[in-house]
Amino acid sequence: MDGSDERPQAASPEGQTDLELEAVHARIRVCTLCGLHASRTQAVPGSGPVPADVMIVGEAPGFNEDVQGLPFVGAAGRLLDTLLEQIGLSRQQVFITNILKCRPPQNRDPMPNEVESCSPYLARQLALIKPKVVLVLGRHALERLLPGQGSISRIHGSLVRRGEVAYVPLYHPAAALHNGALVADLESDFDRVKAYLDKLLAPPPPPPPPPVQKQEAEQLRLL
Ligand code: URA
Repeated sequence: MDGSDERPQAASPEGQTDLELEAVHARIRVCTLCGLHASRTQAVPGSGPVPADVMIVGEAPGFNEDVQGLPFVGAAGRLLDTLLEQIGLSRQQVFITNILKCRPPQNRDPMPNEVESCSPYLARQLALIKPKVVLVLGRHALERLLPGQGSISRIHGSLVRRGEVAYVPLYHPAAALHNGALVADLESDFDRVKAYLDKLLAPPPPPPPPPVQKQEAEQLRLL
């Protein structure tokens, strides 16, 4: 023994959250709860800071995400980056994930049993990351996070509050890559997102000054 203290340092609450999230991600990487594990190259848990004011939830990893193990790194991701840039946000400031953590073969739609199996992971991520605003990309994420809200074409761009969290449903960037007309909708919806964030993330106003005591006021009057 050289006398140095080798006990592990107590983790700060934020460091603890980091560790807890990493443990969730480690479980995701070896998950076999649904059939998608058989065809994946690797799972894609998500990436970004913890905690994060803004969280983005898409549908499922595609080809590039499955290869790289990171969310939104293909063409849809590049469009997402441009939209974030438009409102002054970078990828490093937001936590990005999907409702499914593994790629469905040929990028087919998620199946209900897959969404069910994966949903505890998303719920745990939401609890640890504690976003104030969640951007909900596309109809599958909408169905999962805001069931019964109707179609994405009706609700996109609006703010839906659930408890402490504000959700903004948006068209999925991949849908806009297939149908160019949706790009303009996405751009104007992101302008609305900026206005929501400016309001929801604004620092609280400073507390009012304490009321001047009667005697103090009298003294001031005599000066
Ligand atoms: N589409 C998604 O929904 N998620 C990704 O990570 C990539 C493309």
